[in-house]
Parts: sequence; C-alpha cells; structure tokens
Amino acid sequence: AAKKTGGRVLRYDTALDRQASEHAELGAELRTALDESQFFMAYQPIVALPSGETVAVEALVRWRHPLRGLVSPADFVPVAEHNGLIVELGAWILRESCARMAHWRATLGADAPQRVSVNVSARQLSEPGFAESVAAVLADTGLPPRHLVVEVTETAVFDSDTALDTLRAVRALGVRIALDDFGTGHSSLGLLQTAPVDILKVDKSFVDHVGTPGRQAVIARALIDVSNHLQLTAIAEGVETAAQAEELYRLGYRFVQGYLYGRPAPDLVRSSGQHQLTAW
Ligand code: C2E
Ligand code: CA
Ligand code: CA
Ligand code: CA
Repeated sequence: AAKKTGGRVLRYDTALDRQASEHAELGAELRTALDESQFFMAYQPIVALPSGETVAVEALVRWRHPLRGLVSPADFVPVAEHNGLIVELGAWILRESCARMAHWRATLGADAPQRVSVNVSARQLSEPGFAESVAAVLADTGLPPRHLVVEVTETAVFDSDTALDTLRAVRALGVRIALDDFGTGHSSLGLLQTAPVDILKVDKSFVDHVGTPGRQAVIARALIDVSNHLQLTAIAEGVETAAQAEELYRLGYRFVQGYLYGRPAPDLVRSSGQHQLTAW
C-alpha cells in the first residue's frame, strides 16, 4: 500500500520496518547478553536537601553491547518487557543491586547510602511469586528489607489484577514502595487512595518547569502538598540546575535526584569524606 501512496508514506513505512527489525534483533541479542554478562548496574544518588548528603541510590541497568556499545535501557527494557526476558533480567537486576547494597553496608558502615531503589517492570510485578522472590533475594544477600525500595509505575500497577496484592506482600516484608514517574499516568491521585505506597517520585517533566511562570510550574507545588498530606516522601526527579533545586526546596521538597547531584555510575568511591559517584 505504501508504494502507491507516494514517497512520504513509503519513507515512513521503511522507518517503521527498520524499527521493527531493530527490535527483533535486539530481542534476540538480549538472551546472549544475559548469558554473556553484558549487563551491569549504574547507581545514581538521591540526595537530601539542603545538606546534599546521599541518602539513597537508584539502580539503573546498563547494557554494554560488544558491537553497538552502550545501549540505553529506554531502548532495550521495552523490548525485554515485550519478549518476556525482563523477568529473568529483572531478577538479575534485583539480586545484583541488593548484593551491592549489602556490600556497601559491610564496607562503608554508617557512610553507606540508606537505601537502594530498584525499578520493577509491569511484567515482573504480574509474575506469580514475585514477593517471594524478593524475600529470597533479601535472605540470600543478607540485606535487611528496610534498605530496599521497589520502584513501580502507575501503569504497572494498573496492568494486572494482582499487582496491588503483590505490592502489599512486598511491603509487608518491610520493603518500601515508590511510585515512579508520578503524575504522568492516567489516574495518579486516585491510585493513592488504595495503593500501598511510601514514596512519590515526581516526574522530571514537572521538575523542568519549576520556578518558571505559567501553569506547568503549579504541578510540582501541588504534588508536594499531596505528599505531605498523605505522609508520603516526595523525591523530585531530573533536577539539573541549582535554580531548580532552590525552588524545589522552597516548595518543601527535601529529596532530589538529577544530574546536578550526580549521573548514574557503576560504583561509589570515597572522596574527601563524602561519597561521590565515579565517572564512567
Ligand atoms: P526512570 O526509572 O524514570 O529512571 C530515570 C532516568 O532519568 C534514568 O535514565 C536516569 O539516568 C535519567 N536521569 C536522572 N537524572 C537526570 C537528569 O537530571 N536529567 C536527565 N535528562 N535525565 C536524568 P536511564 O538510566 O536511561 O533509564 C531510562 C528508563 O529505563 C528508566 O526511567 C526506567 O524506566 C528504565 N530502566 C532503567 N533501568 C531499569 C531497570 O533496572 N529495570 C527496569 N525495569 N527499568 C529500568
Ligand atoms: Ca525509576
Ligand atoms: Ca522516574
Ligand atoms: Ca521515566
């Protein structure tokens, strides 16, 4: 059909085809990547204001592909979700992140970050036995549950009938639950009435507008009020400038995450009494 309708449509279809075959290729390579340990974790600081102290880290998966180089999780996590490999990859991510956190606690003691926050996809959350697998990883790695946060998106929570029960079971272990990309889903506020949640991660799209005139800046202000009233911890994501951080602090935010404080990096290193994240 595309051939008859002219160049513009043809180009569009070709681009889509290329994207589809790219996905298929990536999907096939994910299996090899797992078997050959091409994945590694990077950790980004979550800091308290105004001290700037690192109180937690978010674990973010990285894929070092032998030919393509570093592939973004924004490109391969959706593919792994689609072909189901995210269940196995996600299990590895959880174990690796908990083991690393346990290692930091053992080696850094009181200087270690308090928590590691691990992203869990919709597919993992709907998997029977997910809560039990979290308990098993905590037992195996020796990490006390209070040092783990599970990050889920609203979409993941709505995706399956069992997600809420699963989250309750995870939370009953003593693990905290964070709602990721908060405010970008369909019924963010409604979800807060029923979901077992401790932390709201306020999406970068709202943080971007903080301190600017106009309607969009109002959302970050409203969300800190909601968090406070529901006794949830708010974390502002994607903070890139000091001006944003100052305005967020003024609005009442006490926890922030973003390039201003540190990019995701493979390890923590000790430097002049503070833990900074190593460069790549
Ligand atoms: P996310 O969970 O919302 O993670 C935050 C993303 O924002 C990360 O991108 C992080 O590097 C980036 N970021 C942090 N601060 C800033 C900032 O100041 N400016 C900008 N422009 N970006 C910032 P990353 O690591 O590329 O991950 C992208 C997405 O891929 C994640 O979004 C998450 O949805 C998914 N993902 C990453 N790691 C995992 C994982 O281990 N498991 C699962 N299921 N998904 C993951
Ligand atoms: Ca996240
Ligand atoms: Ca997020
Ligand atoms: Ca996001």
